[in-house]
Amino acid sequence: MKEIILIKNGELVLKGLNRSTFESMLIKTIRRRLRDLGKVSIKNAQSTIYIEPMDEDFDFEEACQRVQKIFGIAAFSRCAALNKDIEEILSVVADYVKPALSGVKTFKVESKRSDKTFPLTSPEISREVGGKILSAMPHLKVDVHNPDIIVSVEIRDYAAYIHAGQLQGAGGLPVGTGGKATVLISGGIDSPVAAYRMAKRGLMLNAVHFASPPYTGPLAEKKVKTLLSKVAAYSGDIRLGIVPFTEIQEAIAENCKEEYFTLIMRRMMMRISERLAISSGSKALITGESLGQVASQTLPALAVTDIVTKEIPVLRPLIGMDKEEIISISRKIDAFETSILPYEDCCTVFTPRHPRTRPTIEDCAQAESTFDFEPLIEKAINDTVYCRITKDGEAN
Ligand code: ATP
Ligand code: MG
Repeated sequence: MKEIILIKNGELVLKGLNRSTFESMLIKTIRRRLRDLGKVSIKNAQSTIYIEPMDEDFDFEEACQRVQKIFGIAAFSRCAALNKDIEEILSVVADYVKPALSGVKTFKVESKRSDKTFPLTSPEISREVGGKILSAMPHLKVDVHNPDIIVSVEIRDYAAYIHAGQLQGAGGLPVGTGGKATVLISGGIDSPVAAYRMAKRGLMLNAVHFASPPYTGPLAEKKVKTLLSKVAAYSGDIRLGIVPFTEIQEAIAENCKEEYFTLIMRRMMMRISERLAISSGSKALITGESLGQVASQTLPALAVTDIVTKEIPVLRPLIGMDKEEIISISRKIDAFETSILPYEDCCTVFTPRHPRTRPTIEDCAQAESTFDFEPLIEKAINDTVYCRITKDGEAN
């Protein structure tokens, strides 16, 4: 028996977008995400996207799991695809829906017949199929008003399809429909969640990470790549630039007042990130900042870091979220266990003992006027090393 995935129009998250752009972006994404699983046919007909394996050894379970992580799909069904023959349907249906019906008390069969040449009417199909299920699972009862599960039988153009309930999709908008943005990714809990949240709103992602060897080691870098690979399972591949930040941090430590270390460091990060973002076609920066979480995330602190970026907006999807809410998303995308691994981040290396929580823009500008940072920024940009991160880690 062949299984396929059906995604109906009503299960797409179409708001505010042109349907054909949306669908073509989505189908492109589905094709790309399933490519390495074997030959698959993806077609769009009768207001439905059909995903049909064409290879014997196609890993259907894995395909379902991947589809569950594609933004733009609110729900989908995995179905048995059968010949349009009532005997074949009746011989398969009870076994096929059994796992879904285990543990429920009531069900109902809903049939749709868009192929009117099929000899039974929809109510007749439902009656036959319902009877078959009841005789295989006599503890069940039919409840047409409020069933625990609906078993659907659809007689369509290409085949007959049976399924028992829908699976929840990832929601959001197809990646790419909102353009591209660059996320500042650390090894912490917040920035991978921020990246995930903005990919969910349809943004394709690039990433920048600031590394300060030898203060930060290869394990910290590996951790960032692992975190991005968790995000990439949802967002698709991510281009990561690793910016050598040591010289800049040492220059800050040498020249600036200690209480400004973190703020000036963050201003340098924003300056560099904005330039890298613009040169790669990104239309925004994304950070994992959340109001009041640390000294550098008070409103005055955000003001002094915000002011150095001039051309593109800084998106902070976590700004109004509590740590618990952020952690629950971090767990959901399987990033949390990696995020809490204890490797040094460039921020922790030069943390001031008494950071300024109410800095002014003038004081910051004054504090960083003590050294000529432009050439250092240029150099860091030139020495940035790029790689591509897929859901399986760093690509060769
Ligand atoms: P996170 O959990 O994302 O590390 P955080 O609560 O530790 O966040 P900060 O360390 O102040 O907060 O960093 C705030 C934001 O700045 C991060 O969410 C991230 O977007 C960016 N950031 C911090 N460190 C780096 C880094 N080494 N490379 C790139 N971006 C960074
Ligand atoms: Mg951090």
